[in-house]
Formats: sequence, C-alpha cells, structure tokens
Amino acid sequence: MTTKTQTQVTPCPYCSCVNHKEWAEELGFSVVRCEGCDLLFISPIPSQESVDQAVRSGIYKTLDLNVTAKRIPRKIEKYRKIFRILFADVWKDSFPITWVDVGCGYGEVLEAVSTLVPAGSLICGYEPMTVKAEKAISMGLHVTNEYLTPHSIEADVISAVDIFSHIPDFHSFLSIVATNLRVNGLLYLETGNLADLNRRIDFPGELGVPDHLVFAGEKHLRGYLDRAGFDIESVDYVRIDGFLELCKNIVKRLLGRPFSLQVPYTSKYRQVLIRARLRNDPNRPSAIVL
Ligand SMILES: [Zn+2]
Repeated sequence: MTTKTQTQVTPCPYCSCVNHKEWAEELGFSVVRCEGCDLLFISPIPSQESVDQAVRSGIYKTLDLNVTAKRIPRKIEKYRKIFRILFADVWKDSFPITWVDVGCGYGEVLEAVSTLVPAGSLICGYEPMTVKAEKAISMGLHVTNEYLTPHSIEADVISAVDIFSHIPDFHSFLSIVATNLRVNGLLYLETGNLADLNRRIDFPGELGVPDHLVFAGEKHLRGYLDRAGFDIESVDYVRIDGFLELCKNIVKRLLGRPFSLQVPYTSKYRQVLIRARLRNDPNRPSAIVL
C-alpha cells in the first residue's frame, strides 16, 4: 500500500491529516483510511458543487446512478419503538416540544415521532433532495426542501438518521445543529461504525460511494460531538449482518452490483445509536480524550 499526500488527495475531514492509505475501491472511487485518526473517506472528496447537485437531484449522471430510493413504511414502526424507549423522559413530561429531523428523506422518522409527541408539538423535517421532500410534503408532513441552516428554528430534539456519511464536513454540520437547539436540547445521531472495521470484507454490504463520502468509527462520533459541545447520554448498537443481509448480497451478486458475502453474525459492524445533550456552555470541553 502507498501513502498519498495532500497534492493527490483530500485532507482528513476529521483531523486534517494528509496521510492516508487505500482501504477499498468501489465504482472506480477510492476509499482511504486516515493515518492520523483511522477515519475512512472517499478521496478525493468531490467538489461541494457536485455533492450539492447530486444531493438535490438524487442522480449521478456520469455513473447512471439513482439514489432517490423509496419510502420505507416499516421504518415508521422501527423508529417508534426506538424513540418510545430512548426518549421516554421526553414523552413523560407531556409538554409540547419541537422535534426536527434533518435529512428526513420521505419522512418516516417524522411519522414515527408524530405517534409519540405530546399534543401541541411541532414536528418538522429538512430534506434537500427534492423528490423526497415533495413526496413527504404531499403526505401532509411539515418538510422544508432545504438544508438546515443556522438559527432556523428552536428545537427541543434534533434527529440525524443515516446522514453522517453524506456530509463532507460534519464539524460544521454539528455547529449548525447546535444553533438550532434550545439550551439542554437533545440530539439523536445514528450511523454505522465502518471505520472500526479492519478490512473491507468485514462490512456486509456495498459502501454506497459516491453518495456516501465519509465513514466514522465510534471514537470519531464521540469526538465530533464533544467538539460541538454535546455530552453523550447513551449509546446503543444494532447489528445488520444477519441472514437477511446475506440474501440481499446474493441478489446483488446476481445483478452484478458490488456485494460482500460472509458468514452471518460474524461482522463487527454496527449501527450506532447515540443520544446526546447540548451543554449549557457548548465551549466547555468534556473529559473525553481521543
Ligand atoms: Zn484523520
């Protein structure tokens, strides 16, 4: 393996280190591991303009790739179950709240939250991909077809489900989130721990590049949150390497798409579910040492 330098590739989005090594390749894109912090990311990271164009349209023209996907109704019950337990204290207070889902897609998380919040609550989403936002709006959901911007709203809870890998600069994203939370507001962050895996083969699926740009490990998620002024209150883990994932990969192989076949229940990959609270003084560092 060769070490690339800044003249060839992008500095690490987490620690700015310019040294990294090849880790995987997919659809002609290189995914590298930072030698300074172990983050995984696509290198070079596409320009902000091309990322924005793809995020808004869901189409990568040169790759004949469509990532608009579909609304997944079963996600509503999935997140209703997760949030009913994880935010039991919020529901118990019975005060109306404002819940914002960032990157809300077709609005399944919003629908889940709507079954739990106290009467009089405001539930709204931000979704830059037009086809998803328009579908959610047509279903009566309160969705803005835009990115979340600083000081747009005063939320009690903000959720960010499976959007980490789409965001080149998560430091900036979390700083924007913080401006939209009330004092002591809560953040729900969910993404995978791909950077905690040693080998590409340990991940039971395709990487989803270039739609996915950055892949964290748990220490990165903790570090990003700490720097942005959040204290972690709970971390839960969900594995996805069961027989269903194996069947999906067999289908992908038959269709000629990227796949990864491995024995079920052997991967260290997990979805990481984090509840965090914005500190009274976001500039006060916590005791976390990376
Ligand atoms: Zn790094």
